[in-house]
Amino acid sequence: MKKYGVNELRKMFLEYFEGKDHLVLNSASLVPHNDNSLLLINSGMAPLKPYFTGQVVPPKKRAASCQKCIRTTDVENVGKTDRHGTFFEMLGNFSFGDYFKKESLAWTWEFLTQIVGIDAKRLYPSVYLEDDEAFAIWEHEIGIAPERIYRFGKEDNFWEHGSGPCGPCSEVYFDRGEKYGCGSPDCTVGCDCDRYVEVWNNVFTQFDGDGKGNYTELEQKNIDTGMGLERLALAVQDVASIFDIDTVRALREKICTLADKEYGAEDGQDISIRIVTDHIRSATFMISDGIMPTNEGRGYVLRRIIRRAARHGRLLGIAGIFLAKLSDAVIEGSKGGYPELFEKKDFIFNVLNQEEMKFNNTIDQGLAILGEMEEKMAQDGVKTLSGEQAFKLYDTFGFPIDLTVEILEEKGYCVDMDGFSAFMNEQKDKARKARKGTNYMGADATVYEALDPALRSVFVGYEKLDCRSDIIALTTESEVTEALTDGQTGTIITASTPFYATGGGQNGDYGMIKSAEGEFAVKDTIKIAGDKIGHLGKVTKGMFKAGDAAELLVNHNSRYDICKNHSATHLLQKALRTVLGTHVEQAGSYVDKERLRFDFSHFAAMTADEIARAEQLVNEKVAENIEVVITEMSLDAARSAGAMALFGEKYGDSVRVVKMGDSVELCGGTHVGNTGAITAFKIISETGIAAGVRRIEALTGRGVFEHYASIERILNEVAASLKSTPLSVKDKAEALLNELKQLKSENESLKSKAAKDALGDVGDHVIDIEGVKLLAVKVDGVDMNGLRDLGDQQKAKLITGVILIISAADGKVNLMAMADETAQAKGAHAGNLIKAIAPLVGGGGGGRPGMAQAGGKNTAGIEAALKEAEKVLREQVGSFV
Ligand SMILES: [Zn+2]
Ligand SMILES: [Zn+2]
Repeated sequence: MKKYGVNELRKMFLEYFEGKDHLVLNSASLVPHNDNSLLLINSGMAPLKPYFTGQVVPPKKRAASCQKCIRTTDVENVGKTDRHGTFFEMLGNFSFGDYFKKESLAWTWEFLTQIVGIDAKRLYPSVYLEDDEAFAIWEHEIGIAPERIYRFGKEDNFWEHGSGPCGPCSEVYFDRGEKYGCGSPDCTVGCDCDRYVEVWNNVFTQFDGDGKGNYTELEQKNIDTGMGLERLALAVQDVASIFDIDTVRALREKICTLADKEYGAEDGQDISIRIVTDHIRSATFMISDGIMPTNEGRGYVLRRIIRRAARHGRLLGIAGIFLAKLSDAVIEGSKGGYPELFEKKDFIFNVLNQEEMKFNNTIDQGLAILGEMEEKMAQDGVKTLSGEQAFKLYDTFGFPIDLTVEILEEKGYCVDMDGFSAFMNEQKDKARKARKGTNYMGADATVYEALDPALRSVFVGYEKLDCRSDIIALTTESEVTEALTDGQTGTIITASTPFYATGGGQNGDYGMIKSAEGEFAVKDTIKIAGDKIGHLGKVTKGMFKAGDAAELLVNHNSRYDICKNHSATHLLQKALRTVLGTHVEQAGSYVDKERLRFDFSHFAAMTADEIARAEQLVNEKVAENIEVVITEMSLDAARSAGAMALFGEKYGDSVRVVKMGDSVELCGGTHVGNTGAITAFKIISETGIAAGVRRIEALTGRGVFEHYASIERILNEVAASLKSTPLSVKDKAEALLNELKQLKSENESLKSKAAKDALGDVGDHVIDIEGVKLLAVKVDGVDMNGLRDLGDQQKAKLITGVILIISAADGKVNLMAMADETAQAKGAHAGNLIKAIAPLVGGGGGGRPGMAQAGGKNTAGIEAALKEAEKVLREQVGSFV
């Protein structure tokens, strides 16, 4: 058997099925399209679900693909076994109501034995217990001896997922040889050991199950097969684990070189080597599909994978930032099958670098805190970290929970995960309540699943903004309906429409649908699975029913505004790449009639100068009045013309290329005919929205003028209230500020003069008590702040002393005492002094040794209080000596 490489095997499989009249599909993005049930694509069949359910008519009844997949349910086992990995490629052939068991099993056998050349003696088919049909095909059509065909029960060979389509499976096992066996005399196909591995699974979707064990034959029977490419390579290359197959091994060796470690050295580090090997593959592919590391959903899966890889790299002793270097090896190994890896190379490296740096900071801080927690646990003889502490590490320090668990487990501790989850849920609840719930009818609303899949809408809105067409379907918010009447909200679907449906970052069109009997205000336009376009809105007059002839009228102004914003977005992307560099990739964009929003990869805030230059570049292109040229071509032709493709976007065979001068993009949106129509472009904000992702918001045309008009209006209002004109308002404001400053300082000195006058000449009031000077005086009409100012002034004069000032103001008494450091050294204590005398003026209070204050109500007691102060201070100083 020739030891084919992974890239060869992929190609052989797809070519084989192309030869059997299958449509070869490109791998879909790892981000599920219109499918909220999945976080990440985890099988070859997952992106094809709408074809299987009949919701969308497939382009051909036979298809084959090699699909990139991520599965993280077993992430804890990665590294510990020969076969677990989070990233894998799944080969599969599919029949949507076309061929069935006979053809599929024959091709399975032919591909494995004739094309790949695996020795038939090492292969064993299995069928579902009751599937005599499949058994007979293996025995009679393919010619396998019956004792080599195994029958297994439901858990192994029946595919079922609650209620709905289901059916038996037939698997092919590969015998890896005795050396992988468990040695038991009973060791055979189905044994738990590593000798017999399942390489290919054929699923025959032939029943409709009610979930209670009752099955009825389906009219349309489907085939869905899956073969792990890595698993196949493991068999063909006859190697010990998926970490030994050619492409993965090259990556593994690079890790060993970086870490200066030997694989298989039995120092317990193979697990870390394998984890890094697997995780960097997943991370590279996920980022190439536009997933960014975040704290939620698939972004969190990515963050977790990157951080685990970074941590195990550290455990291996790799110094510094290293993930991007490894990612380079992933890209080298797989770019043949996945050109997007190479195209997004710089972007992938940047994201990895940013996340790794961020993580290194987090980990240093988190490890220190976790270390303290461990110490405390050891002291207290506790073996479990409380949920609260684990949550604190996660929430406050960003330390991932799985890392906490992993690190503690290595040291024989565990984590109260129930407690942790309780804190997590509480936080999520809070977040949920904080979000305003919108019950908007989106493209994935279940009501659309009930629509006839054969219905189609044609978009004619590139050329015109109104057309006549027939209504082919209507829905209310909850069901498909025959008619919508006055006041009802719902969806109208027509055979053709000039309304652009939200997509590619462009908001759907607004407008009006009219018929002989009614009017319908379109508030939004959306894409519905199966090439349908839905107009969402409300019947404002009369009624609409299926079959009605209708007139569809897009609101011209809002469409033109959207076009201006969209075209400007293309110019902005080009300008940003010129000003900031080619690492700038679109990370998201959104245009509506009000403004445009563009998210892009860049690793620092833009400077004011960079923003001004980007804005100027766009305005120059606007002024050049460049014709916008839109052409349809093949994806390959578009790529070689330098068109910028988007992340995660699904492109058909023919793509639309939008060119404005040197800006060339794949885009399905609507555009102006000439850049001049944009009129003007203005960036209004530039902010960071995630690590390494910036967001620009900008205006065009009417929006720019409205923006400046509102600024001008404010300026006029300011000028008017300053009794000035817009042109001289700056000088006027500066003059006013100067005047204000002068008035403030005048006010200060007046205040302090007034206080001084109130105190009069204080010389007579100073007495000496055991070498500590005491100034105890009464003033009139000075508030507490004034008293403090007075105190400060006097303090400077007294040299060594205590100041007590009592003021009567508005029927209230304010007391303030100060003792300088020398007086304090001799025993004086302002706080105690105030405390002792305040009762004499009907108040209470106290304070620090150096400064204290109090209030009272009895002005008659002021003289007594002053007298008493002398006595108290004498006691303080006397007792001190
Ligand atoms: Zn065994
Ligand atoms: Zn576009």
